[in-house]
Amino acid sequence: MKETDALLVVDSVSGVGGLEMGQDEWGVDVVVTASQKALMCPPGLGIVSVSEKAFSVIRRNSSSQRFYWDFDRASNMMKEGETPFTTPVPLVKALVMALQLMHAEDLQLVLKRHRVLFDALRVGCAALGLGDATQASQKSPTVVVSELPASLLGAQFVKSLYENFGTVIAASVGEANAHKIRIKTMGAITYDDIALDLNQIEAVLNTNGRNIEAGMGEKAARAYVRRCGMFDTLGLSSGGRQ
Ligand SMILES: *Cc1c(COP(=O)(O)O)cnc(C)c1O
Repeated sequence: MKETDALLVVDSVSGVGGLEMGQDEWGVDVVVTASQKALMCPPGLGIVSVSEKAFSVIRRNSSSQRFYWDFDRASNMMKEGETPFTTPVPLVKALVMALQLMHAEDLQLVLKRHRVLFDALRVGCAALGLGDATQASQKSPTVVVSELPASLLGAQFVKSLYENFGTVIAASVGEANAHKIRIKTMGAITYDDIALDLNQIEAVLNTNGRNIEAGMGEKAARAYVRRCGMFDTLGLSSGGRQ
């Protein structure tokens, strides 16, 4: 797109913070993200990063009607350290804290942690006999999508997991996805979180007529993390946190 007039706009709501985003290197003009996914904050902030090329289009377009989404006004006010409307100070403070945590961990390690835990959870789900429904061409390491056995419905499974353990995962929307479950692997995620998921998923599968040997999924995930050489970094200590 760099050589053309077209602007490249990327929805990276569930990406930024968990998946590489090389805005300048890749020539992305507008990156859109939000506070509540891999950036680990409460919901409420929409965040955009706008290239010079996009800003030149925005400035040329000064005669069109706009009010809330006035990037030119927002950028001018930012020079004074202000926002066009009342700043949601607690959310901005939370975002600053989250970014400090990510820099303290090291951004490349944060991204690697996402990739390794995402793959470890997929390996664990496979060991529990679940299908991998994370589409090959779109493997964002922030959400694992698994296919339950045909006799189990995603919505029912999600409900059982919540009722038995208080753990919240998501079903999928639409008839074609009736047997899918979605588990986030983004943000402040640790090995213990996916170990817990795997052990609880195993328990719910077993109460639904499966006969899985205790700890099968978690064992496979653990072996995978070990093979990646991330066993120490990811702090495999308690083997499951409530
Ligand atoms: C979560 C998500 C959205 C929706 O954001 P909400 O603020 O939760 O409505 C949009 N795009 C992607 C890629 C997301 O992951």
